[in-house]
Amino acid sequence: MIALFDKYPDLRNRLPYVALGQFPTPVSRLARLGERLGIEHLYTKNDGLSGSEFGGNKIRKLEFLLGDALRQGAAEVLTFGCAGSNHAMATAICARRVGLKSISMLLPQPNAHYVRRNLLMSHANGAELHLYPTLKSCEEGTAALLEQREQATGAKPYVIPAGGSAPLGVVGFVNAAFELAHQIARGDMPQPDVLYVAAGTVGTAAGLVLGLRVLDMQTRLIPVRVTVPRFANNRRIAELCTETSALLHDIAAGFPELEIGPDHAPIREGFLGEAYARFTREAMEAVGMAKELEGVKLEGTYTGKTMSALIADAREGKLEGKTVLFWNTHNARDFASAIAEVDYHGLPRPFHRFFEEPVQQLDRE
Ligand SMILES: *Cc1c(COP(=O)(O)O)cnc(C)c1O
Repeated sequence: MIALFDKYPDLRNRLPYVALGQFPTPVSRLARLGERLGIEHLYTKNDGLSGSEFGGNKIRKLEFLLGDALRQGAAEVLTFGCAGSNHAMATAICARRVGLKSISMLLPQPNAHYVRRNLLMSHANGAELHLYPTLKSCEEGTAALLEQREQATGAKPYVIPAGGSAPLGVVGFVNAAFELAHQIARGDMPQPDVLYVAAGTVGTAAGLVLGLRVLDMQTRLIPVRVTVPRFANNRRIAELCTETSALLHDIAAGFPELEIGPDHAPIREGFLGEAYARFTREAMEAVGMAKELEGVKLEGTYTGKTMSALIADAREGKLEGKTVLFWNTHNARDFASAIAEVDYHGLPRPFHRFFEEPVQQLDRE
């Protein structure tokens, strides 16, 4: 079900799209966690179930991005992330499913068990993996690789930015807002007053901001910053909203062309901790509470930090009497069996250290 296409049929006919996920993702009540926090109406939308093999928020973006790669006749896609990037892994899995080769240009990050799993899963899905020590060397390596691929194959790989946060990827989350509106209309949950979501490369937040605005929903989005301000900032959200709105308006004239200002959904600061992917005590407490009270799996890089912002607001009494929605962007599928036989020695040498060095202290998996 692509709710956006039902509303704007021109988009169905003209937007690049390849079905990869299972939608709508379920909405459910978090009654016990809500009770513990003094929030009477606490709900979650579980994008963890967006894919059968691997879920999470990247599937929504990849349906449009890989649709575009296929439409352009690409044979390879190239994308970016940190070593444990969920986006890079989701791209590897989905690209293989639609017959594309994938290349991941990766950067160092704090070590964690999930970094190992994601690297093994990317490798098992045939991704070509490169690790660079710095952003600058990654950019230089990318330019050289694109050049070399063009000479070897006659075409450059289709490039997907970090997190899939290009306007076409953002469309996936404009659709997600329409999907939520549909679920509210049919009674799955009341309209939320407040919606918490992780802000990494902010395509997810931007799509929701634009979708909620077009739907004229009075839900306040709180994007919780989990990475450096260079990626997650108010200006970037506004820019992505404006570009995506223009893209959709060009294709379907009925879709409004909006300018969304940087103050529309201000990013929530204070929950990142020391660095991207460096777990915090507050995030680990949130992960523990979600698991213990609801059996919901969160993690330390994105959703734990986002939930820790929600918990802090609840404890300050800011959510009293409110209907609150927590958008779970984290994969809920167990892919342990797919990587059980994969040996890390098969990965390029620079990645071995993630398997040989200890994980960060707060990672108690
Ligand atoms: C990538 C990711 C996010 C952040 O989404 P952006 O669109 O990059 O802001 C949130 N949660 C999880 C689990 C992710 O993998």
